[in-house]
Amino acid sequence: MGYGIHNGRIQTWALEAHIVDHCNLRCVHCCTLSPQLAPRVVEPSTLARDLTALAPVLAPQVFKLTGGEPLLHPGIVECLQLARESAIAPVLQVTTNGFLAPRMPDEFWRVLDRICVSLYPSAPLPDATLGLILQRCEDFDVELRLKPAPRFQRMDAITPHADAAEIFNGCWLRHRCHMVRDGRFFLCTRPPHLADVHGRPQLADEGVELRGGQLQRRLLEYLTAEKPLESCRFCTGSTGELEEHRQLETARASRPVS
Ligand code: SF4
Ligand code: SF4
Repeated sequence: MGYGIHNGRIQTWALEAHIVDHCNLRCVHCCTLSPQLAPRVVEPSTLARDLTALAPVLAPQVFKLTGGEPLLHPGIVECLQLARESAIAPVLQVTTNGFLAPRMPDEFWRVLDRICVSLYPSAPLPDATLGLILQRCEDFDVELRLKPAPRFQRMDAITPHADAAEIFNGCWLRHRCHMVRDGRFFLCTRPPHLADVHGRPQLADEGVELRGGQLQRRLLEYLTAEKPLESCRFCTGSTGELEEHRQLETARASRPVS
């Protein structure tokens, strides 16, 4: 897939920032591996620094704040305001399971363009909460997207692939799920999460460092590279089997084979 450039900015589908890693749910096959990660809260100043570096050279159609469960971030309104100030994207979205929406102040709804609420059969959102979200979206002219997720795709490879070329080549996530995290731009959300879960810190380096010169050139080279990431060895990309959505029952999530 090629990437166009307009006014010096690489045109992309979307960019995500996972502002927390923890969540109030524990979905089996959570694609961000939230149940297996330690709690983590992104500093708003770190997010602002990264978006300020990226905005002159990257133009995603939408910027998504997600997690984990992003509404658990105590400074989510500040994160949203900083994202707006960065002008990284014309649409500002929060992707959430919705349970904590009743806690959100007016400022949260005022700065948002869109909220995407994932609906899980194993953890149904109370009707009253959904009703409140609908009302707030109407009051503040926020676009609401409801995303039923009756099945989840297994994304963790049961055993690491010897050669991940096929997985990588067929993976649509590498074009649609770009992520910024801790001073790096990633092709997808997996490398830093897999690094933590597998105890392989080198995987967290599989992104473009935002510091330094020639950022647009380095991003383009990374986006169009034909070689799989090392992280792809531990991932099913978009080929994993679908399973009924369910919650983990154990107190701690077990770690995958590495
Ligand atoms: S709600 Fe989302 S982030 Fe939380 S465990 Fe489920 S899939 Fe993961
Ligand atoms: S790690 Fe590789 S296969 Fe998995 S989502 Fe990212 S690019 Fe796709």
